[in-house]
Amino acid sequence: MSDIRDEVRSGFTETFGYEPAGLWSAPGRVNLIGEHTDYNGGFVLPFAIDRRTVVALALRDDCLARVASSFADEVVEIDLTELSPDRLHGWAAYPLGVAWALGEHGADLSAVPGFDAYIESDVPVGSGLSSSAAIESAVAIALNDVWRLRLDRPELASVGQLAENKAVGAPTGIMDQSASLLGQKDSAVFLDCRSLESQIVDLGLTAAGLVVLVMDTGVSHAHATGGYAERRASCELGARMLGVESLREVSIDDLPRARTILDDVTFRRVRHVVTEDQRVLDTVRTLRESGPAAIGELLDASHRSMRDDFEISVPELDLAVETAQENGAIGARMTGGGFGGAAIALIRKDDLSRIQVAIEGAFAEHGFGLPDTFVVVAAQGASRES
Ligand code: ADP
Ligand code: MG
Repeated sequence: MSDIRDEVRSGFTETFGYEPAGLWSAPGRVNLIGEHTDYNGGFVLPFAIDRRTVVALALRDDCLARVASSFADEVVEIDLTELSPDRLHGWAAYPLGVAWALGEHGADLSAVPGFDAYIESDVPVGSGLSSSAAIESAVAIALNDVWRLRLDRPELASVGQLAENKAVGAPTGIMDQSASLLGQKDSAVFLDCRSLESQIVDLGLTAAGLVVLVMDTGVSHAHATGGYAERRASCELGARMLGVESLREVSIDDLPRARTILDDVTFRRVRHVVTEDQRVLDTVRTLRESGPAAIGELLDASHRSMRDDFEISVPELDLAVETAQENGAIGARMTGGGFGGAAIALIRKDDLSRIQVAIEGAFAEHGFGLPDTFVVVAAQGASRES
């Protein structure tokens, strides 16, 4: 963390020629369970991880917004009064989209001062760990502070989502930003995506001698263009045909009737969402009653549902999950939007290196690229750094 802080500070100074006024950071996230349920008004259980995006920022005397990142060569600038989704492109649509979205949430963009921002991160990009929510949330809390907007964290999550939906053009739900903004150490965020009420749930991993292993397949996913939007449309179609506002209103007992109404593909999409909602509730209950060692079968069942019913897995994700399971994992599943990215395995700490070696061996045997496997720890959500 201190490394990134130093880098972001010097990056800012080199780019803009003066010292930043402050540093703010926000983490990526792993979703423990509850996939593609968020935009269906359902339940999710992500946690913030110990990988963060840090923004160094200072206000300006004029109304220019200038953003730079260690990930990009160019400095992108725009007049705050000219911000609109159709004028934002590429990576800068994330930070500048947040500035625009704050305007939609009450900030007067013709009155607030402009800013310079430099961004540095150790959240892997495009791996399903939500580097997008990390950059949005870091910029959102920074601007909320310096513009003295006093928006609360759930509202800042909505700001990040609005930026991603409208400025970036990715039809994602509220989960990632909520995890990044609301996460707490050693805990998961149990979020009801319909009411937006959240509860912090103790994971109890350390006490149980367990860790969460991320298995990044290196297969890149693309939310804005990929199957994500198509799955979302299937869910909307299913809800419409079942006469409900969202799939949240469909229960497991309703599934036999749904099968008679829906075509096979739509039915399986609906079944994934409905059973996944129930698995999130069961996971929260099991964590509270029996601890993390008892949630393995729920994780495994979630993966099967995404592979067979929602059809968002890829061979690399299936191989990572199966290899972890065969080598003693408590449970494993792909995580994130799908079509690539990462899987997670809940494992005993002592099994770590054995499972890592087994996964690397299995990938080599199948001729897949070398996966990146690393442990993540449930960490504090977005915060001011200095
Ligand atoms: P994920 O959220 O799974 O990492 P996304 O495709 O949703 O993947 O978001 C990744 C995109 O977010 C990047 O392609 C880039 O445009 C933007 N982004 C994320 N982190 C940074 C960063 N530190 N600097 C600049 N852009 C970033
Ligand atoms: Mg993302």
